[in-house]
Amino acid sequence: MDLSTRLKHIIVDVPDFPKPGILFKDITPIFDDPKTCALITQHIVETFPDIDAIAGIESRGFFWGMLVAQVLEIPFIPIRKAGKLPRPTLSQSYALEYGTATLEIHQDTIQPGTNVLIHDDLLATGGTAFAAAQLVNQVGHCVGFSFLVELAFLEGRQRLEEFTIPVDAIAIY
Ligand code: AMP
Repeated sequence: MDLSTRLKHIIVDVPDFPKPGILFKDITPIFDDPKTCALITQHIVETFPDIDAIAGIESRGFFWGMLVAQVLEIPFIPIRKAGKLPRPTLSQSYALEYGTATLEIHQDTIQPGTNVLIHDDLLATGGTAFAAAQLVNQVGHCVGFSFLVELAFLEGRQRLEEFTIPVDAIAIY
C-alpha cells in the first residue's frame, strides 16, 4: 500500500467539528502507528533534502516539523499564533472568513538568507500557509510547502502558486 493510501485509511473524518459544516480530518490516529509515522518523516526528508530549516505551523505542524528537523539535523522553527512567544517577534496577519489572524516567529530564529520549508498537517484554502511564507520571507527564503493532507477542492495549491516553489501533499482529497 502506498503512503497516500495508508494515510487515507488511518485519518478519521469528524463531521461538524469544530463547527457545523466542517469535515475535520483528524490526523492523531497516525500517532498510534509508528511505521506510518516513520514513513511520513522519510517521505518529507526525501522530498526536501536540501533545506536549511523547517518551520512548523501551530500546532499540528509541530509533529513532523520537529521529526524532520531531527533527521536532517537542521533547526526547527515554531510558527505560533499571536501572543504565545515570549521574546520579540516578527508577525504576519491574514484574513479569515470573519476577521483576521496573526502568525509569529521569534525575531532571531531565522538567519538572513536561510532556505526554509514550511510544514503543516493540512492545506485547505491556503491562507495560513500563504501568511506563514510571507512571515518566513521577511528574513529568509521559503523554498517549499509540505502537508500531510490537501483538500484540493478548496484550491489552496493555486493560492500558493505565486511563490513559484514546490507544494507537496501526501494524501490528496
Ligand atoms: P487554510 O488556511 O484554509 O489552508 O487552513 C489550514 C489550517 O486550518 C491548517 O492549520 C489546518 O490544520 C486547519 N484546517 C483547515 N481545515 C481543516 C480540516 N477540514 N480538518 C483539519 N484541519 C483543518
